[in-house]
Amino acid sequence: MFRSHTCGELRLQNAGKHVTLAGWVQTVRKFGAITFVDLRDRYGITQLVFNEHLNNQLGEQPLGREFVLQIKGTVKERSNKNSVIDTGEIEIDITEFTILNKSAVPPFTIQDDTDGGDDIRMKYRFLDLRRNAVKKNLELRYAVNRSARNYLHENHFMDIETPFLIKSTPEGARDFVVPSRMNQGQFYALPQSPQTFKQLLMVSGYDRYYQIVKCFRDEDLRADRQPEFTQIDCEMSFVEQEDILNMFEELIKRIFLDVKGIHYTDAVERMSWENAMWQYGNDKPDIRFGMKICTLKKPTSVFTEKTDHAGLIADANFVVFDSAETVLAIAVPGGAAYTRKQLDELTEWVKRPQIGMKGLAYIRYNEDGSLKSSIDKFYSEDRLKLIADASGAQKGDIIMILAGTEERTRKATSELRLELGEQLGLRKKDEFKLLWVLDFPLFEYSEDDNRWVARHHPFTSPKPDQIKTMIENNPVIEDASNYLSHPYAQIKANAYDMVLNGNEIGGGSIRIYQRELQEKMFAALGMSEEESVHKFGFLLGAFEYGAPPHGGIAFGFDRLCSILGGSESIRDFIAFPKNNSGRDVMLDAPSSIEETQLKELQIMLRGEK
Ligand code: ASP
Repeated sequence: MFRSHTCGELRLQNAGKHVTLAGWVQTVRKFGAITFVDLRDRYGITQLVFNEHLNNQLGEQPLGREFVLQIKGTVKERSNKNSVIDTGEIEIDITEFTILNKSAVPPFTIQDDTDGGDDIRMKYRFLDLRRNAVKKNLELRYAVNRSARNYLHENHFMDIETPFLIKSTPEGARDFVVPSRMNQGQFYALPQSPQTFKQLLMVSGYDRYYQIVKCFRDEDLRADRQPEFTQIDCEMSFVEQEDILNMFEELIKRIFLDVKGIHYTDAVERMSWENAMWQYGNDKPDIRFGMKICTLKKPTSVFTEKTDHAGLIADANFVVFDSAETVLAIAVPGGAAYTRKQLDELTEWVKRPQIGMKGLAYIRYNEDGSLKSSIDKFYSEDRLKLIADASGAQKGDIIMILAGTEERTRKATSELRLELGEQLGLRKKDEFKLLWVLDFPLFEYSEDDNRWVARHHPFTSPKPDQIKTMIENNPVIEDASNYLSHPYAQIKANAYDMVLNGNEIGGGSIRIYQRELQEKMFAALGMSEEESVHKFGFLLGAFEYGAPPHGGIAFGFDRLCSILGGSESIRDFIAFPKNNSGRDVMLDAPSSIEETQLKELQIMLRGEK
């Protein structure tokens, strides 16, 4: 028996017990003739005492950090207790020890506040994983995994594996491809998600499917994305949107309860995509705080919502607002007290290239009810008051106003809102707010490709009352500059996203399940009949054999874990993540392969950069 107990297990009531422990040497401290060693394993740290006799042996075989040690000894009460660790009331009086393995000096300290930078920790990820901070994240990940599995199992979902070597799935990203040796010149694609398989499983009658599964997308790695990531992927038959929303908000609530001990009793809020864009400037609003956007001016766009405030800024000869497509405002609580310096900093902030605004106008709504503004040359105090009221400002607030082209201004205002929310401490890590965003547009128009693209994916169905619009209209657009007037621009999807604290944690849709409509969809996306049969003949074929109405959702498992763990980074919750260039620096992958392998695959490198 290597060990009788773990290093996190022994307590005062075990005093007098003879035990065997095994673990890693965390620290060695010599005090005259006695040596103290902290022994660490996955479960904790236990203090060992090497008495005078054993100390001499240690002189011959010195212990270093991260040595693997087995000890035998007796549990005894500690005189100098440590209340920080669970085993802090005891120590082990060693009678025997065996060095099971030596260790080179680790390149960074195995501690919460390690001295190792990101790169070195990734290179030696197996050592980084020994650190408590990382271990806690993986434990949380496992807890989320268990909780999800339990809930889904209790609700009759069946975990069914789907293949990784497949044909391309259209999830909107580039595929990773794998050359086939047995079928030379041909390639598999790695799944961007199991989308078509889970739909086929519905056709096969497995009416509740789930999988905690890897997905692969060859995207440029914007902040905090991984080329391979994990989804909790689910699909159900004989359901409408409402059934899915209920089933899966309960899943997330269950995870809150199991993993964080949080009873999420509030009803999950629901918001249309249009309202989300309108009031928060993006489709995944953080609703932990208010500061909704007030539209003072906007062009004709995909948003049908009207603004009643357009008149407030008109006819004042203020060229910045007059010439702008869009003017948006937010009221910042307590902001009237901002100093000149703070406002200058915020102005610089919105001018950064990532935000891309030309400037920031503001109106102080002072506690005494007076209004002072950076634009009071153009607007009387009465007008400023009307703008303040429209934006929902209270005395003591400041109203910030951005102007520019629609998309950029909406995005910038949304970013500014989040930044101010952060600065004001309104985005609390331990507060969780769920939101369903609904009624997304089914199509987006790609001006680059001059065609419609599916906003979610091509298997998403339109709202039932809009199927007719889809079937009866020709998707082809004569005048691309006027695509908004095409009936397709107004079709809404039977799709839903779940948002948690401003992050999209899941998304899905009710699917198309009739061949005719699916064909129409492919055609709308500019696919010829031939192409759609070549790419999705299997699915179209399956729809001819009694496909049930079905729908599903997939949650971003890594992201969900990172939010529950209070971290910005999904990497912290993945045992062996890739860096921002998609590299595994520990394995040094990707890497070149042997000439013989290339030959076998009939692949010749083109030698181009
Ligand atoms: N397969 C979709 C995705 O990965 C999710 C779904 O529609 O169920 O986004």
